[in-house]
Amino acid sequence: MINFDYVRATDVADAVRQIAANPAARFIAGGTNLIDLMKYDVERPAQLIDISNLPLKTVEETASGGLRIGALVPNSDLAYNPLIEDRYPLLSSAILAGASQQLRNMASTGGNLLQRTRCFYFYDVATPCNKRQPGSGCSAIDGINRINAILGTSDACIATHPSDMCVALAALEATVHVTGPAGERAIAFADFHRLPGDTPHIDNNLAPAEIITAIELPPQGFAPNYSYLKIRDRLSYAFALVSVAAALEIEGGVIRQARLALGGVAHKPWRKPDAEAALRGERAERAAFAKAADILLRDAKGFAHNAFKMDLARRAIERTLTQAASGTPQIQAYKKIR
Ligand SMILES: Cc1cc2nc3c(=O)[nH]c(=O)nc-3n(C[C@H](O)[C@H](O)[C@H](O)COP(=O)(O)OP(=O)(O)OC[C@H]3O[C@@H](n4cnc5c(N)ncnc54)[C@H](O)[C@@H]3O)c2cc1C
Ligand code: SF4
Repeated sequence: MINFDYVRATDVADAVRQIAANPAARFIAGGTNLIDLMKYDVERPAQLIDISNLPLKTVEETASGGLRIGALVPNSDLAYNPLIEDRYPLLSSAILAGASQQLRNMASTGGNLLQRTRCFYFYDVATPCNKRQPGSGCSAIDGINRINAILGTSDACIATHPSDMCVALAALEATVHVTGPAGERAIAFADFHRLPGDTPHIDNNLAPAEIITAIELPPQGFAPNYSYLKIRDRLSYAFALVSVAAALEIEGGVIRQARLALGGVAHKPWRKPDAEAALRGERAERAAFAKAADILLRDAKGFAHNAFKMDLARRAIERTLTQAASGTPQIQAYKKIR
């Protein structure tokens, strides 16, 4: 039995104060990842600070025409929120592609960003893992690496970020709002998660004792032309081998704006501005989609068991862009038909 203290935060300031006072503490929101990590002995927090009652559960319009999503909005509520379904269906679709209905009911928006990799060795405390124990080595590089990354890897770690929701948030260019001992700040989504480099134990750019309070969506939601395609070993309740979020703005068959992000292939949602730039001004057709896929996957490198992801990703990108361009997005299970 490993003991830990449990306390409830009364407001955001109290949550920040409590975690700043105890670096061995962790926030707990839905608990769907943290509790598993504690059961596997990967995480041993001395104290859990329960933030689940904080008033961060609303979805509100912003003055600029976007939406501000509280960090404690459950994934299910967010996916089925009419404002999200109507204006940001890409986000709704990506959330419904993840986990199970029960998990989505518990999982929070903020916690989804901070869920940890599903690399098998990260969860197996009997094996070396630089992310779990810095300097111990990476068991995946020469091990069973079927689910690991093909882009942005380092000699220290080839883990992927497992979130579906984050792939859509990257494509939509969301902003992460945080509060810490130094006050509030906003982080562009592209700058929130990190590549592993030689510090794979640091997943993101959150500073010590900072709490995520909200995610802000800019006005443009790409509702007419989007698709989220997730390829996985089973049709539900499995993490992505490869996923693609595509969003297009099309006028007279010509692409005016494009967003393209990949999941399941890197330590963070994978975007490349030049892949999106290559689509702008082109007709929304196969040749342009293939060129964008080439650019997005230019530096891909496979390992013994995951080289198949390179071809899979290429075909998934072309298919998702085709779905987005024709206004026939991938339909997820659990989508409400209205
Ligand atoms: C079996 C299974 C299958 C799954 N499948 C998928 C899938 O296919 N796709 C997918 O995207 N996800 C999947 N998930 C992951 C799930 O989406 C995440 O576990 C969930 O989103 C985490 O949210 P939470 O609120 O439960 O986080 P918690 O477990 O409570 O917390 C996770 C981490 O975030 C920190 N934290 C939480 N909230 C905040 C905050 N506001 N500010 C600062 N720190 C915070 C905690 O301290 C902790 O370190 C799956 C999970 C399970 C168990
Ligand atoms: S890939 Fe990363 S998470 Fe997996 S064993 Fe290597 S260091 Fe650990």
